[in-house]
Order: sequence, then structure tokens, then C-alpha cells
Amino acid sequence: MILGIECTAHTFGVSVVNKGKILANIRDMYKTDKGGIIPIEASKHHTEIAEKLYGEALNVAGVKEEKIDAIALSNAPGLAPCLLAGMKFAKEKASGLKIPIVPVNHCIAHLEIGRSLGSKDPVLLYASGANTQIIAYAAGKYRVFGETLDIGVGNFIDKFARYTGLGFPGGPRIEELAKKGKYIELPYSIKGMDVSFSGMQTKLQQLFDQAISLADLAFSLQETAFAMLVESSERAMAHTGKKELVLGGGVACNSRLQEMCKIMCKERGAKFYCPENSLLTDNGAMIAYLGEIMFNSGIKQKAEEVDIRSRERTDDVQVKWRK
Ligand code: AMP
Ligand code: MG
Repeated sequence: MILGIECTAHTFGVSVVNKGKILANIRDMYKTDKGGIIPIEASKHHTEIAEKLYGEALNVAGVKEEKIDAIALSNAPGLAPCLLAGMKFAKEKASGLKIPIVPVNHCIAHLEIGRSLGSKDPVLLYASGANTQIIAYAAGKYRVFGETLDIGVGNFIDKFARYTGLGFPGGPRIEELAKKGKYIELPYSIKGMDVSFSGMQTKLQQLFDQAISLADLAFSLQETAFAMLVESSERAMAHTGKKELVLGGGVACNSRLQEMCKIMCKERGAKFYCPENSLLTDNGAMIAYLGEIMFNSGIKQKAEEVDIRSRERTDDVQVKWRK
């Protein structure tokens, strides 16, 4: 029985997983009326809400806390104050229950949860607010085959939405507007396997100032930014010879991105896996799910040994749980 805690950024999540089955997946997101995340405020949110979500998760799972074998904690990467809040809570519980902690890398958890859907060895397109990476397993590690050179695709969309007065989070509103839009050419920027959004950002703002229809801009933003992500993912699949694609991250909730990935996979005879929305955005279930796999392969730490690793890279992690 593994209890998973997600705390790397805006979301605090608690989940209970047993033998790969998700028994509870509870979360609460820190939101702002205006502007982005203030890390210290988000960490206060986590601390305030932790005990309540912990109780709820155990309740929903129908499990007594004495039955928990280990706590899986998203100790990396993320915003340091948020990670610290989560770690403090995890340590209190682990010490009280005299159980170990399994430190889990958040980005890798996004990929591994895709494997719970039946995917064996996928390429992950991880498209979230702060992160945009194309990740796959090669030679003992999860390697980053492509990534953004400037900002994450979600932050890029949110920034443009904020500029136009749409508010946060911008992704769902842009998706809605895009349904009525038509195509305008925008800067398409792939360098090797990496993508960059700042040129498109500037162009979009200029066009908006020239009173170009917001629906057309929203449509063209999606077509252009998502095509870049799909191109890089496809090249990673071709390069590694992998025949599966998994989506992860909040932007992956976008139906147009899902559709484009589906078409690409179909055209190259690959399989496409898209977790449900509650597993795409940040959640404790993916942490508990991977935590259980790691725990079963012998990876665990005493509470006092655990530390946060706010800048840990995906390929810093030695993947001992895969053959
Ligand atoms: P995450 O950082 O993974 O929690 O995801 C949050 C990001 O996902 C924010 O930047 C949102 O704007 C974005 N997002 C959520 N839903 C959608 C959507 N339907 N289309 C595009 N982006 C979205
Ligand atoms: Mg995430």
C-alpha cells in the first residue's frame, strides 16, 4: 500500500495505490486571481491543505494509515518552497508511521503513469505549464530528446491569454476560441529536436495589437505550437525506433493536440496513449504509482535521509526499476 504525495508546483495531491490500482486520487490546486504562481503562497497552500487531503485520500481508499507501507514523494524537480512543504508533511507522516519514503521524479512519473495504460516503452510528450520535454528510455535512463529552449508551452499559451485579457489558465479558453478560427501563418521554430516559443509570442502580440481576430490567433497558435511538438515527438520516435506515444501535462488535455498526436501515430503505425485528464495534470496518483514500482525494486530512504532536488534533470535519475 503506497501513499503518494504531489507537491512540485501549484497542486497538492494525495493518492493511495495498491498493486498498480489507484484507490484514491485527491488534489487541490493553488489558484490566483491575477498573475502567476507565487511560490511561497503556493507552499502555504500546501501546508494548510495537506492534513485534510491526507484524511480524504485514506477515506476514499477505505484504508487505515497503519496499512501504508511507504510514502512516495515528488521531491524533484519543482519550486523549492512547494517541495519543502510537501517534504515536511511526508517526513512527519513517515516518521510517525515508521515507514520509508520513496523519492520520485515528477517528470518521470508523468511517463510511467502512461505505462499503466498498457504502453510498454513509449516516447512521452510532456506538455505542461512550466515543462515541455520529449522523453524516452535509452541505456538505463530516461533521456530528454527534445525540449523547449525558452518557456513551457502552457506558460506560453497562458502568457498570450493574459495579454489579451483572457485570464488564467488560458489553455482551455484558447481551445474554445480556436474552434471558430482560421489559419494565419506564425513563426514555426524547431532547432534540431528543440522548440522555442518566444518568436511566436511576439508575433501573436503584434497581431493582436493590430486587431486581428482573437479566434484566428487562438486557432493558429494551436496549429503552429502543437505541430512543433508533434514534429519533435515523431522524430524522437523515428530516432529511437519506439512505437508508442504517451501524452502528459496539463496542455495534453487539449483535444486538438490529442487529435494531432493520434493522426501522427496512425500514419506511422504507432500506438497512442492518452491518460484521462485527472492523470494528465499534476496528481498524486502518478507519484504513488511509480513509487510502488520503485519500492518493489528496493528503492527507499529513511525519512531523515530525504531531501528535495528542485533542479533535478530527468536524466540525472538512475532508473533501477527497469530492465
Ligand atoms: P500543468 O502545469 O501540467 O498542471 O498544466 C497547466 C497548464 O495546462 C496551464 O498552462 C494551462 O493553460 C494548460 N492547459 C490546461 N488545459 C488546457 C487545454 N485544454 N488546452 C491547452 N492548455 C491547457
Ligand atoms: Mg507536471
